[in-house]
Amino acid sequence: MGHSTSRSLELFRQAQQVIPGGVNSPVRAFKAVGGTPRFIARAQGAYLWDADGNRLLDYIGSWGAMILGHSHPAVVAALREALEEGLSYGAPTEREIRLAERVREAYPSADLVRFVSSGTEATMSALRLARGYTGRDLIVKFRGNYHGHADSLLVQAGSGLLTSGGGSARSAPSSAGVPQALAELTLVADYNEPQALKDLFERYGEQIAAVIFEPVVGNAGVLIPTQEFLECLHLLTRQYGALLVADEVMTGFRLARGGAVELLGLKPDLICWGKIIGGGLPVGAYGGRAEIMQQVAPLGPVYQAGTLSGNPLAMAAGLATLETLFQDPPYARLEAYGKALEEGLRALLTQAGLAATINRVGSMITLFFCEGPVQSFSDAVASDIERFKVFFHGLLRRGVYWPPSQFEAAFFSLAHGPEELAKTLEATEQTLKEILHMAH
Ligand code: PLP
Repeated sequence: MGHSTSRSLELFRQAQQVIPGGVNSPVRAFKAVGGTPRFIARAQGAYLWDADGNRLLDYIGSWGAMILGHSHPAVVAALREALEEGLSYGAPTEREIRLAERVREAYPSADLVRFVSSGTEATMSALRLARGYTGRDLIVKFRGNYHGHADSLLVQAGSGLLTSGGGSARSAPSSAGVPQALAELTLVADYNEPQALKDLFERYGEQIAAVIFEPVVGNAGVLIPTQEFLECLHLLTRQYGALLVADEVMTGFRLARGGAVELLGLKPDLICWGKIIGGGLPVGAYGGRAEIMQQVAPLGPVYQAGTLSGNPLAMAAGLATLETLFQDPPYARLEAYGKALEEGLRALLTQAGLAATINRVGSMITLFFCEGPVQSFSDAVASDIERFKVFFHGLLRRGVYWPPSQFEAAFFSLAHGPEELAKTLEATEQTLKEILHMAH
């Protein structure tokens, strides 16, 4: 065991000279777990190879995008073909139509789909559309749900948010640079807490343009919605004329062909996608009923645009990914792997006598080091973060690359099979022994 990381160390040192914190997205810096991030040199199937040549079994999958595994031949072939035809035209292309048709096939309630270049753009644009369509300003989001880094979505609950009377009712920025006046237009509620949502709607219902939510949360670790919560979301948004926006950036095409909408029988007004629909290239999208989507420019007054929107390479990768998924639906296989992984991990944790909760839906899984249930962000933060750090580094040293934060879902792909399962469980068993040793 124990492999060299000197090249990653050196690259991280260099990266910090030219890039803030050495990374282009914060979680990659390993701040939550400590240590040096691995610089990745290449990827194939279920594995990454770092700059020192270590092979790592990947449970991040580009944060959910790589459902087929890395460098899938169909995606690589589609990209090679597209590459020969030029890189970007800033004009419409046929692939955009075909990809939109595929999205609509999986999500029949989305009459029209608009492509953008990231999940952030998708949610940001969907909320602008919701505000434009309803003529209202307030939006509701849930604590521990992440929807990208648009200003309106980087907020946290203000004190006294859900108490009746008194206290500041609106939210505060959770990032410097977000104006307080803007943050106050976002209300934050707790996930899986129907009563809190009812209170919020009673107070602000007529001003609420939209409720945005992760239908299965990946960004607090995995949280699973209760039926009561989902019903409440639908009921309140209908009752008060607010739009329900399902953020399927992580879950879309992952939990089922029609994502969480299909799996859980949801009826959102707008849906946001990202990750898988780009097959590893930068793509996002939002869609919904024609009557709403027709408010988007050039048909309507809600402006939204993008130089690289519908980029030919990105469309080609997305199209090849969706076509591969549609031709041979992988969801039963992913579920089988997930079930075996979950059961294997649970058996090892029980054997070790360690308190743990495993939340999993399909190919999204989180192991929290605490007694369950973990249903909300407050439950998630009660888990033992120090223990998670040891778990993470124990796995990494044994060549298993789990997400470097307790509050991120792990993802696996179609390239994960029996060998990968065995490797993961073996690494876990050894790591848990280390944890027990430390505890004594
Ligand atoms: N929405 C969800 C549910 C996400 O998980 C993410 C990213 O992880 C986003 C939106 C933002 O997507 P992007 O990072 O492509 O901007």
